[in-house]
Amino acid sequence: MPSRPAITAELEQRVKLLLDDETHLGHPLRDALQDLWLSLLSHITELEQITEIADSGKLGLPKRIERLSKQFERQIRQLERVIRISDRYQSSLKDLNAALREASTHDALTGIANRLLVEERCRQEDARSGRSGSTYSLAVLDVDHFKRFNDNYGHDVGDMVLKALGETLRFSLRQGDLCARWGGEEFLALLPDTTLSEAEQVVHRLVGKIRRQRIELADQELAVTASIGVAEHLPGETYEQTFRRADQALLEAKQQGRDRYRVHQAA
Ligand code: GH3
Ligand code: MG
Ligand code: MG
Repeated sequence: MPSRPAITAELEQRVKLLLDDETHLGHPLRDALQDLWLSLLSHITELEQITEIADSGKLGLPKRIERLSKQFERQIRQLERVIRISDRYQSSLKDLNAALREASTHDALTGIANRLLVEERCRQEDARSGRSGSTYSLAVLDVDHFKRFNDNYGHDVGDMVLKALGETLRFSLRQGDLCARWGGEEFLALLPDTTLSEAEQVVHRLVGKIRRQRIELADQELAVTASIGVAEHLPGETYEQTFRRADQALLEAKQQGRDRYRVHQAA
């Protein structure tokens, strides 16, 4: 088989001349050559298009990869920014929640637990007692003649006295005990797993400590006393009932001269 001739400009010229030559018009070989030539030209055009597409694809790929990778990096950076903002948002929400919980369960003046929190803990103690037969005691403390501090020295000094008492209570009780401001100048100590005689020792010490305590003003020192009533939770009782018995004992302490504690003995 003869070797295939290349489609050179010279061959193209030869074919064109043959096809343009009118003397060959009507010759079947001329028509066949024309068809063949046109078909070849159309193949060449198709081939050129295919090569162009392939070349452009080959050349464009690294560029496309680069563009996509830049886009990807940009999105990663945006995502990281969003994650950082979300982390900050979550941590500030946590702080806010903790601050809200603290504000709703603690007394703003003295910083100790408020009535809401101690009542919640008392209910838990009631439930625990129902389950396991554990006991607890309640001590209700009321500042003696507190009105006089306000009347003689002003409301701010009254507040100082309450703050000082809050601190004394906090540092006098054991871990696991809870002291709270019940309201006004009354405090409540919840003593879990504490019998009446054990609670008696606690409040005995406490009354003495408060009596010896001095509240320092700019030019003088104030002494303060308190009265306390104590009761031990009885099986089946609610903390409200225990509280009422402790409050009766407090009234007795007041009636018997203040600066003392009284216990409520269950009948
Ligand atoms: P008693 O020995 O019988 O308990 O007498 P008392 O003066 O302590 O009791 P009383 O109930 O007559 O007065 C309590 C006073 O406590 C009246 C009220 O204005 C004052 N008080 C209540 N809450 C606060 C407070 O947050 N700050 C100040 N400074 N005073 C308060
Ligand atoms: Mg009172
Ligand atoms: Mg009082």
